Amino acid sequence: MFEDNLFEIRRRIISASGKADRDAESIKVVAISKNRPLEQIIEVVKLGITDVGENRIQEAILKHNSIRNTSYFKLIKWHMVGHLQTNKVKEAVKIFDLIQSVDSLRLADKIDKEAAKINKIQDILIEVKTSPEATKFGMLPDETVTFLRDASQFKNINIRGFMTMAPMVDDPEKCRPYFRLLRELRNKINGLSTLNHELLTLSMGMTDDFQVAIEEGSNMIRLGRAIFDVKNM
Ligand SMILES: *Cc1c(COP(=O)(O)O)cnc(C)c1O
Repeated sequence: MFEDNLFEIRRRIISASGKADRDAESIKVVAISKNRPLEQIIEVVKLGITDVGENRIQEAILKHNSIRNTSYFKLIKWHMVGHLQTNKVKEAVKIFDLIQSVDSLRLADKIDKEAAKINKIQDILIEVKTSPEATKFGMLPDETVTFLRDASQFKNINIRGFMTMAPMVDDPEKCRPYFRLLRELRNKINGLSTLNHELLTLSMGMTDDFQVAIEEGSNMIRLGRAIFDVKNM
């Protein structure tokens, strides 16, 4: 059912990465499965997309638990892409491989503590608010350096990179400055000598704008409608 969509997505990834002289294989597709039934998740996993993202913890837990008894469970990497409240962190660290929406030191601190309790090193991304109108979440670009300095004390989180959402616009070209801003921020931060490891992941690009995001350096695109909607592309 989703084969045609995935074929078209792949075609566009190859085209966009070609334009930017990048390797198409370096771009990870995360299927954003919010509001989609479990059967559809299993369908895309069968087609080779094994990174699955949810934006609400309760829905993620339900799906996680129902898929647990299937042979697909071990293949799946779970991503949290929605806003996470500190009182949900305990549950989140139990199920997510990558929490993409960390936007405050308070949240990082809580994740660190809960991860320590279950002996886990929790992979996270820093959510950055690159445009005023896209969402109310995310830290400002200027706050990231201080955040990284303060978060370096946390032993049970592993910061892998950055995530951003572009605003809803009629023309994806209009998102380019925001994607570029995130790439430049990442490069600048990686140039600082205070970091002990590089932050490589750039999670940016959704159904309407992923080609532009790839041209601007994205290596993780989060696709909902492009994968699950029939005849969306
Ligand atoms: C829903 C959602 C997506 C996917 O959106 P589409 O436009 O359907 O591809 C990506 N990222 C986040 C954070 C989302 O909430």
